[in-house]
Amino acid sequence: MPHSEPIDLVVRGGTVVNADWQGAADVLVGNGRVRALVAPGAFPSEAIRRAGAGELDASGRLLLPGGVDPHCHVGFTSGEFTSLDDYRQATTAAVFGGTTTIVDFAIPRPGENPADVVAVQRVKAADGLCDSALHACVVDWDDTVPEQLRALVADGVVTVKMFTTYRGETMAEEKTILKVMTHLRDLGGMVVVHCEADHIITDVQERRAAVGAIDAGHHAATRPELAETASVAEILAIAESVAAPVYFVHQSTPEAVDLVARARSRGVRAFTEAVAHHLVLDDSAYAGPHPERFVCCPPLRTATTVAGLRSRVFLGQVATIGSDHCCYDTAQKESARHDVRAMPNGLPGVETRMPVLFSELVVKRGLPLGRFVAALCANPARLNGLYPRKGVIAPGADADFALWDPSVTREVRGSGLHMATDYTPYEGLPVTGWPSTVVVGGRVVVDDGHLTDAAPHGRHIPSGALGPALIC
Ligand SMILES: [Zn+2]
Repeated sequence: MPHSEPIDLVVRGGTVVNADWQGAADVLVGNGRVRALVAPGAFPSEAIRRAGAGELDASGRLLLPGGVDPHCHVGFTSGEFTSLDDYRQATTAAVFGGTTTIVDFAIPRPGENPADVVAVQRVKAADGLCDSALHACVVDWDDTVPEQLRALVADGVVTVKMFTTYRGETMAEEKTILKVMTHLRDLGGMVVVHCEADHIITDVQERRAAVGAIDAGHHAATRPELAETASVAEILAIAESVAAPVYFVHQSTPEAVDLVARARSRGVRAFTEAVAHHLVLDDSAYAGPHPERFVCCPPLRTATTVAGLRSRVFLGQVATIGSDHCCYDTAQKESARHDVRAMPNGLPGVETRMPVLFSELVVKRGLPLGRFVAALCANPARLNGLYPRKGVIAPGADADFALWDPSVTREVRGSGLHMATDYTPYEGLPVTGWPSTVVVGGRVVVDDGHLTDAAPHGRHIPSGALGPALIC
């Protein structure tokens, strides 16, 4: 036990939950990192006092690694809309929900260089209450892209987002996706893809507009499941053809997940990300009084599809669960609700991701705790090159913890959350379990539900080697 190292915080009496191990342990922290896990009481109060260390009582609580949200848009501009948070606001909401690392996107506007956008985004990390990493994004191919990719990977940005929809904005042609995949493969990076076949969606939307069914209440029908399935099949074929790894963001249907699982069984390094709202909410929301608040892409699916997607989590086919956080408010959403083609897409969710999924998957349906930690902490860290620094409570890892009260019950209320918007899509949802205390880099940032350290200590964390993912 490295007692010669300085110890400045001891978390006592909790049950440590890692993806692959859980048990009673006290955690010794020094200089922002975990120094050791020791048997309960092995580092007695007397020794803590002598060391001048702080002490956190975690008894009755679970000690989870701080959440890693692999899919989080901060201050994202799309069309004429910009989502309403900055790094300080997004990370404040994150830590209140137990998430201590977010992975944001550096998405170029038409004409911008991917590497330039990363450089601009990267410096914003310092305004955060917790750490962050970045996905780059390539839209168009030109001769400078290979060199930009080399520089980005050398600089710790190893994942590149690409879209098969939003023509004229962020959509990339298939041949561009193939080239970027091939170059990233050789650099040790990975393409992360938003898959919805643009030609199918455009056609369906035009036909629906012609009969006056293009408003927010009809959103689900404007982006059919088969548009996602078709696009996933195409991108998987490209990845398999060039033997490149590929990660599918926000997969919303069991068919799409199954395509990825089958490819993986053939040896393709393909991974599924699901996002919280596709696992909890269904398309009945579009028949309610505020359909615009639920407009996201892919849309919320039928209850049958949601149940099928959820079953894939239990089958171990979903590597990561993100939030796809995008912080628009009701006024922004309402301003274009008559036509989903003009609407700002996305739901606020960085704060609710962990508590809502803990309640819905672990408490209600019996997902083992280790699997929850794998999907929300460990695998997002591993597949973003942040492991073993993030996503695990182990010697050498950053001291990022969520002290989880597994028995507290509450109803989710937008008014009680910290996201920079006026609503939550989970309004009124009863949940069991919420983080009571959150530690970031050895500092207690949230304690007993109150912000106790608002100083911005956020860092941009460079990504290293990717994977391997656990379970799936
Ligand atoms: Zn997204």
